[in-house]
Amino acid sequence: MLRWNSCFKPLYLKSFKGYTFYSTNNTDGIKNTRHRNVTDAFVKKLCSSIGQQNVSTLLAVREQCGMDEGYHGISPSDVVVFPQSQDQICEIAKLCSSYSVPMIPRGTGTGLEFGVGAILGGLCIDLRNMTSILEVNEEDFDCIVQSGVTRKSLGSHLRSTGLMFPIDPGADASIGGMVSTSASGTNAVRYGTMKENVLNLEVVLADGRILHTAGPTRRTRKSAAGYNLTELFVGSEGTLGIISKVTLRLHAMPQMMISAICSFPTIQNAVQSVVNVLQCSIPVARIELMDEVSMAISCLYSSLDYPLTPSLFLEFHGSEESVKNQAKEVEEITKMNKGSSFLWSSNAEERTKLWKARHEIFYAVLAQKSGYKVVTTDVCVPISQLTKMVVKTKEDIMNSGLLGAIVGHVGDGNFHTLLLYDPQNKEEIDMVHTLENKITRRALLLHGTCTGEHGIGVGKMSFLEEEIGQVGIQVMRSLKQALDPHNLMNPGKVLKPLV
Ligand SMILES: Cc1cc2nc3c(=O)[nH]c(=O)nc-3n(C[C@H](O)[C@H](O)[C@H](O)COP(=O)(O)OP(=O)(O)OC[C@H]3O[C@@H](n4cnc5c(N)ncnc54)[C@H](O)[C@@H]3O)c2cc1C
Repeated sequence: MLRWNSCFKPLYLKSFKGYTFYSTNNTDGIKNTRHRNVTDAFVKKLCSSIGQQNVSTLLAVREQCGMDEGYHGISPSDVVVFPQSQDQICEIAKLCSSYSVPMIPRGTGTGLEFGVGAILGGLCIDLRNMTSILEVNEEDFDCIVQSGVTRKSLGSHLRSTGLMFPIDPGADASIGGMVSTSASGTNAVRYGTMKENVLNLEVVLADGRILHTAGPTRRTRKSAAGYNLTELFVGSEGTLGIISKVTLRLHAMPQMMISAICSFPTIQNAVQSVVNVLQCSIPVARIELMDEVSMAISCLYSSLDYPLTPSLFLEFHGSEESVKNQAKEVEEITKMNKGSSFLWSSNAEERTKLWKARHEIFYAVLAQKSGYKVVTTDVCVPISQLTKMVVKTKEDIMNSGLLGAIVGHVGDGNFHTLLLYDPQNKEEIDMVHTLENKITRRALLLHGTCTGEHGIGVGKMSFLEEEIGQVGIQVMRSLKQALDPHNLMNPGKVLKPLV
């Protein structure tokens, strides 16, 4: 006999930024989270077709799967399922479709925009067991992986082949999650984002049909065959289907890699150097900005000893000669902008330490005050607007009285502000969202986007409307309607619900 564990123990409502999420540590207001179509009969069928051991209704599991690394809180689904194969995902989708149960795909939950929150209840499809690396085609520089493979495990697997997959969001995200959020990271300036590195996707649609976005078994570098369905799914945040398999483009490991840090008297000098480097078309592999606040927090957190001024973290890839030439040209430019001499890290251990510190800045800021949370902005602007955008943002943070750090993939015009606030303090909540809105609106005015890499999730739907315009939203709605007519795929994300 199937039993609901403690899953309908009342959870407590918490209203934040116009949305209602569930929190287990609040004590005001009570609401049952059960989606009306998640009946005992549905769960029983799910267990019999997928295996009871792959299904959980435990509150702790549902809560863990109903949150990500962002500030939005927890919104548990009614049930969590852990499929082991693509066939099982098809079974799950068919079952959800026939019972009208919402489906929320989940990778590793490192997203920052609450894409995994089950805000309308339903079934969380957790892909953590889909971790097979199915093919590595060394001659063709590509590989095929199940969507639950994480970027670090793929990196380890490829190490002996001389190939690499360079997209590196700071966290150890799943490849399916990275496709779904159109992730990038520190290497995008040289190797592109997920958009440029996905060749084909196997997707289970809401009704259980299987789509190969570039056609079954295709893995070419380019194609002019019809609409680009692959890119349609890159950045779709689980709202169009469940990605089960990904064909990725790989790159040759460079002969030589060296990293350096350069410090500047002002953030303007640092950003202007980036603009000049890009205008000279120097093929840097990484060029990352950390303001003086990030440097202070990061050096303390990661035990580093660098000057506590605005800095650029750089990396050069190529043959020995080309790396030396690139570094020389960049150093000339940074010197013109009052930059210090480069502090070099050429051995792998030192480089790893340096980039680990850069990747851990989110946790370093979070560790500043216990119980506090971090709102992360993710704007991206054309390179010509970058200096203005960063300098104005810095002024806004200083005027706000909040603790905010600026870090960024400035080589792409993309940077983040990490704004620390007390989630129990209404005034600070208002301040942080006023500041977030101001930064994002300015980016839109400067011809930029509200999100370079984290996605829309639940928090940026209004900005999406401003950014894309009415016709754009109408076309997106038509696509959603065509692929998911009953709005079962991750409902309440990306596109605002129609009232
Ligand atoms: C410290 C830190 C640093 C970060 N740095 C970066 C960075 O530099 N660049 C960057 O781009 N991001 C960064 N991120 C954000 C995050 O790592 C990315 O958004 C990542 O791509 C999320 O992958 P995930 O597997 O954790 O996805 P999840 O959080 O599990 O899910 C994210 C979204 O994708 C959907 N989804 C997941 N898997 C599938 C699937 N198989 N099929 C369909 N939909 C799916 C979910 O429904 C959800 O909408 C960072 C996060 C943290 C915590």
